[in-house]
Amino acid sequence: MSSLGSISQVLAALNDHLVKHTLSSSQLEQRVATISTDTRTIKPEDIFLALEGERFDGHQFVRQALSTGATAAITRQGIITDDTPRIEVHDTLLAYQTLGRWWRQQLGLPIVAITGSVGKTTTKELISAVLSLHGKAHKTQANFNNEIGVPKTLLELTPGHDYGVVEMGMRGPGEIAVLAKITQPDIAVITNVGTAHIGRLGSEQAIADAKCELLTNMPADGVAVLNYDNSRLMDTAAKVWSGKTITYGLTGGDIHGQYKEQTVVVDGLALPLPLEGQHNALNYLSAIATLQALNLDWHALKHGLTVELPSGRAKRYELANDIVILDETYNAGAESMAAALKLLKAQAGQRHIAVLGTMKELGHKSVELHHTIGNLVKKLGIDQLLILADPAEAKAMAKGAGAIPSQLFNNHTELAQHLKQHMETGDRILFKASRSVEMDRVIEPLLPH
Ligand code: ATP
Ligand code: MG
Repeated sequence: MSSLGSISQVLAALNDHLVKHTLSSSQLEQRVATISTDTRTIKPEDIFLALEGERFDGHQFVRQALSTGATAAITRQGIITDDTPRIEVHDTLLAYQTLGRWWRQQLGLPIVAITGSVGKTTTKELISAVLSLHGKAHKTQANFNNEIGVPKTLLELTPGHDYGVVEMGMRGPGEIAVLAKITQPDIAVITNVGTAHIGRLGSEQAIADAKCELLTNMPADGVAVLNYDNSRLMDTAAKVWSGKTITYGLTGGDIHGQYKEQTVVVDGLALPLPLEGQHNALNYLSAIATLQALNLDWHALKHGLTVELPSGRAKRYELANDIVILDETYNAGAESMAAALKLLKAQAGQRHIAVLGTMKELGHKSVELHHTIGNLVKKLGIDQLLILADPAEAKAMAKGAGAIPSQLFNNHTELAQHLKQHMETGDRILFKASRSVEMDRVIEPLLPH
C-alpha cells in the first residue's frame, strides 16, 4: 500500500505552518496512507485534516475520523483542547496546500495543469486518455478544481503514476496563481478565454489576465500549450510568457487540425475524434499538443480512443421514435451554449429543438449575452426554442431568436409536460443551462424507466 511516509516526515513538510503536536515518539514513526478531509472515505493510517467551510466545519468530525481509523487530525490551533492526537497548524487549508505541493515535489512526475473559461474537464479527460497510452495517468476526479480540489488531486498521486493531470478553476483574480504555485506544473494548458464569471471579473481582458496567472506562476522551464484560435489568449500570453510554447488550433498553430465530421486531420493524418463536435476537435488538439510538449508520440491516435465524460456534457440519449436528447445540463456560459447549439445543428434528424435556461454569473453582460444566444439560434436555423430562464434573460433570448418559434416556461414540470406531449419522430433536442437551473430535472421524466 502506498504511503506519504511517516508522520514525522509530514510534520517536517508542514514546516512553519506547524504550531504544535500531541503525538508520542512511537506515533511519529507511524506511516501516513494519505491526508483525508472526508470522514466518509477515511481509512486506517490516514490523517484527517479539518477544513472549515461555509456550511461545515471539519473540526466537528475529528472524533468520528479517529474512531474510523485515522491516526491523528490536523486542526487549527486552539480549537481542540483535550487529549485528541493532533497536529495543530495556523490554517488547515494552507497546510493542506503545502502538503499537496510537497508531495508533488517528492514524486517529481510530469504534471499537466489545465485552465480556461470552458472545456477544462473535457480537456482533462482527453489529456489523461492520451497520456494513458504512454503510462499511468492520474487526473482530477469529477470537477475538484479549486483550492481544495487541487491539493486533493496532488495528494492522491502515488509512485505508481507516470503523469498527473490537474484541472484548475477560478472565480476571481489571484486564484489560478495560488493553484499554479501549489502544483508547479510542467505543462500549462489554457483552453480559451471567454465570458464565464465575467460578472465577477469585469471584462474579458481581466479574465485573460487571470487565466495567464498559470503561466507566470509555473516553472520557467515549463511548456505552455495554448489555443491559437483564441486571439485574446494569445495576445495576453505573449505579454507575460516568453518560455517554450506549443500552440494548437483549427485556424493555425503548431498543431494545426482540420475538422472533418468525426475526425481531425493533423499533418495529413486522420485522427478519429473520441467526442462529437467542433469544440471537442479543438479540445482534442490540445491533448495532441500536450503529448508533443512531453515528447510523446501521438501518431497512435489514428487508431482511435474511447473517452467517457462526467455527466451532463455531450451525453446522448436515444429514445423511441428516433428521438435524440443531447444532455448538456452540467453547466452553461455563452461560449459553451454556442458550441452546444452548433453540435445540435450538426445532428442529422428532423426538427432541431433547443431547450435553454439561464446562463448565470454574467453580471452586466447577462441580458446582452442571452440576446446573442437567441440570435445564434436564429442564425443556425434551429426549429424551436423552449426557454426556462429568469424573466429578463428569457425575454432577451426570445427576442434574439426573432421569428424562430419560442416559448417561455415557468417551471421544470410545465416544460417536461410540454415536451412529452409535443416531441415528434426524428426530433433532436438539446438541453442546456447553468448548473443551478437544474435542467436535468426536465430530461429525467422523458427518459424510459
Ligand atoms: P467548469 O468551469 O464548470 O469546471 P469546464 O471548463 O470544466 O467547466 P467542461 O465541463 O469541459 O468545462 O465543459 C462544459 C461545457 O462547455 C461542455 O458541455 C460543452 O458544451 C462546452 N465546451 C467544452 N469545450 C469547449 C470549447 N473548447 N469551446 C466551447 N465550448 C466548450
Ligand atoms: Mg470543469
